[in-house]
Amino acid sequence: MSDYKHFESKAIRTQSDNRLHREHSAPIFMTSSFTFEDAEQARAMFADEIDGSIYTRFTNPSNNEFIDKLCLLEEAESGIATASGMAAMFSSMAGLLKAGDHILASRSVFGSTHQLLTQIFPKWGIEHTYVDIDKPETWANEIKPNTRMIFAETPSNPGLDIIDLDWLGGLAAEHDLILNIDNCFATPFLQQPVKHGAHIVTHSATKFIDGQGRTIGGAIVGKEELIQHIRFFTRHTGPSLSPFNGWIFSKSLETLPVRMEKHCENALKIAEYLEGHEELVSVKYPFLKSHPQVNLAKKQMRYGGALVTFIVSGGYDRAGTFLDNLKMLSLTANLGDTRTTVTHPSSTTHSKLTLEEQKRVGIEPGLIRISVGLENVNDILEDIVGALEASKKKKVLN
Ligand SMILES: *Cc1c(COP(=O)(O)O)cnc(C)c1O
Repeated sequence: MSDYKHFESKAIRTQSDNRLHREHSAPIFMTSSFTFEDAEQARAMFADEIDGSIYTRFTNPSNNEFIDKLCLLEEAESGIATASGMAAMFSSMAGLLKAGDHILASRSVFGSTHQLLTQIFPKWGIEHTYVDIDKPETWANEIKPNTRMIFAETPSNPGLDIIDLDWLGGLAAEHDLILNIDNCFATPFLQQPVKHGAHIVTHSATKFIDGQGRTIGGAIVGKEELIQHIRFFTRHTGPSLSPFNGWIFSKSLETLPVRMEKHCENALKIAEYLEGHEELVSVKYPFLKSHPQVNLAKKQMRYGGALVTFIVSGGYDRAGTFLDNLKMLSLTANLGDTRTTVTHPSSTTHSKLTLEEQKRVGIEPGLIRISVGLENVNDILEDIVGALEASKKKKVLN
């Protein structure tokens, strides 16, 4: 691996150095195991005295290329590729924590991460306390003697609230806690949590890293002294990534900067156009002047991200008719695709929360989440505005 100065060059030029046929693009290493030259090499590799692939559950060159590149982009020391984003979230916690430990977590976390914290870890005696992302002044009071980790997402889903990463890094350092940031929404192109004091950065590669809605995967990067414990955990529990998917993610990272630039440019245009639309109660986007944390967002993010949310007037029912009147946009739970995708969090991704809980994480019955894709921005806008028009309540004549 060479030292390239700029993000784009790192994303494109970081490749595995295995070049048996002088191939320009690294091949996919679809093999479950690797051979040893002799008994001594086998012994030394198992003893960790020399590097090298042994078995794909441990490491594989295609996955290494993906993870080495992601480490460079996140400015992290080392990392592990996992079979899904949730395998990354789970392993980053289970590999470092034990019964009796406590996690301080932002209430605004991904749905399955919420299930992990509230349903799965308590079975093994790992407890958590939720804190509100918009009330950072309350966080320090919730740190207990057995707190070991702080976990947060920024921007949050679907609230699009921002947490000050410098402040959070300081809080973690002051109390000697592991700071674990899910950087899925921003990607390393927009923000690098390690620079602000995060020890672990977790990803769902399924989203913007793949960027084309093709496959599932995840990653954990961070400090080697912590990653080694997680590596022991994943090596022996087996949430390993298929080399085929590792190859896809490595190739996809090459275009991450250009894709993210365009996603964010389209998203900002859409947010600016829709703000003040008479059929909407409000529009939220981190780089909109009206966002309560716009200055913080601009301080720690390169662009505002690809997610835009708005609340349609008419609430839950109007949200449904709005979705039914879309012609181009895809109605799907995924995000981070080349295609613009639309979700109604209240009835789908966050339907397990009570209405009261939904409100606490910024979900109104009329909230629509758009993951802005790479289509022509005018086509995306035309579809949204058309569906808003078509879903208008017909005036009843008396
Ligand atoms: C999708 C997502 C996950 C889970 O990732 P999978 O790849 O679906 O397992 C975790 N965190 C965030 C923020 C996500 O958007």
